[in-house]
Amino acid sequence: MPDKQTPLLCEESVSGRCGALLPRLDVPQTPVPETLLRDSLKLPELDECTVVRHFTLLSQKNFSVDSQFYPLGSCTMKYNPKMNEDAAAQKGFRQSHPLSGDSANQGNLELMYKLQEALKAITGFVSCTLQPAAGAHGELTGILMIRAWHLSRRDKTRNRILVPDSAHGTNPATCTMAGYITETIPSDAKGAVDLDALKEAVAGGRAKTVAGMMITNPGTQGLFEIHIADIIKIIHDAGGLVYGDGANMNALMGIVKPAELGFDVMHLNLHKTFSTPHGGGGPGAGAVIANKTLAAFLPGPIAAKNKDAYELASPEQTIGAVKSFHGNFAVLVRAYAYIRALGADGLKRASQYAVLNANYLRHLCRAKFPTPYGAERPCMHEFTASPNLGNGVHTLDIAKRLIDYGFHPPTIYFPLTVKEAFMAEPTETETMETLEAFAGALEKIAAEAEAEPELLHDAPHHTPVGRLDEVAAARNLKLRW
Ligand SMILES: *Cc1c(COP(=O)(O)O)cnc(C)c1O
Repeated sequence: MPDKQTPLLCEESVSGRCGALLPRLDVPQTPVPETLLRDSLKLPELDECTVVRHFTLLSQKNFSVDSQFYPLGSCTMKYNPKMNEDAAAQKGFRQSHPLSGDSANQGNLELMYKLQEALKAITGFVSCTLQPAAGAHGELTGILMIRAWHLSRRDKTRNRILVPDSAHGTNPATCTMAGYITETIPSDAKGAVDLDALKEAVAGGRAKTVAGMMITNPGTQGLFEIHIADIIKIIHDAGGLVYGDGANMNALMGIVKPAELGFDVMHLNLHKTFSTPHGGGGPGAGAVIANKTLAAFLPGPIAAKNKDAYELASPEQTIGAVKSFHGNFAVLVRAYAYIRALGADGLKRASQYAVLNANYLRHLCRAKFPTPYGAERPCMHEFTASPNLGNGVHTLDIAKRLIDYGFHPPTIYFPLTVKEAFMAEPTETETMETLEAFAGALEKIAAEAEAEPELLHDAPHHTPVGRLDEVAAARNLKLRW
């Protein structure tokens, strides 16, 4: 990574310099309308080579899965095979247009249909929509379906959705957006849902106000939710439905079918588990799959097969479209290419290696990065640790110092239930050597915390910019210069 900060293009500008060669004028010369001329718009004047170098240098400052290890917990930053890009860039897909009609789009609809079938087979659900553009969008879709189901039964008293305290922030946000009150259910001493608290939340007359529960399994502590069967039964007995946050499906493919655990509806992050490059805001795809209870409420249109032709159809009681046309279609192509390339056995092995890698890494760093919950049992595809290196060194300092060692920091301060949380998800695509190198960097950082803690407080030292005011950056966006 270059040490120096790249100068702004305007700083490199030289008056009169130009990198473009315009063709000879073959129409009469006319003055540019006054209204289009702005003195205040000081466009940089540069040669082509400077511009190419500028943008190439900037791109090299990007951190990416293709350049470095990226163990960002709960995000599944796995390697995205380049073959998927070839598939998505095929001319037939690239040049198709949804308004050209179903008959002209048979190939696209066939791909959507087959992807829906594959996702149903992987999860055990009976129906699937590919429309939502992200995991959070899938959550909103699923909760709106639960709402539509209650209303279809003229059950209007239910206004609460229960959410564990370890949940991803999008879960409570989804409940609020769907018009529900979020009720937080605490975790027990083992990091699982506190069953007594859950029973209390639906006890007696309170059962009638529970619309459902949102829960991810494995949970965000990286542990399989041991009470899952009881939890789902408690909610169903109270008359509610259970939403599965499927962002953690990377641990379960080919091993557990969430529909068989009793979930009613769930989203999958195609961009995480099924390998589309993501981060920085998308595009993604949050396919939603549902059981018989909720299938009729899925957003349409859904790809269907009618004899030998494919068509788009909407379920009877659909909540309506949640995205235009076919969703983020190129992400669907990548997911389908990934699933077909690996096959059923390959997907299962991907999950097994994801779990093995997380356990190996957890084992390598356990001395200084102990797991607060469930240390006595294996973790799933990620693990949370609660480091305490002393000398006022916080998890933020460790994360920033990791950048100096060439690693992307893990997720930090999430889940909220873990003190100084450090949450790593290595994914199945990393080698043992990479995991060992990462653990080696953590060991060095632990030694630095003892010998020269200021080094950590001021990290990172080798990046063009050091610690940023992230709050100010988000609140006072500067979108132009
Ligand atoms: C990533 C994630 C989400 C949200 O998915 P987006 O595609 O980022 O909207 C929800 N829940 C969990 C557990 C996640 O890891």
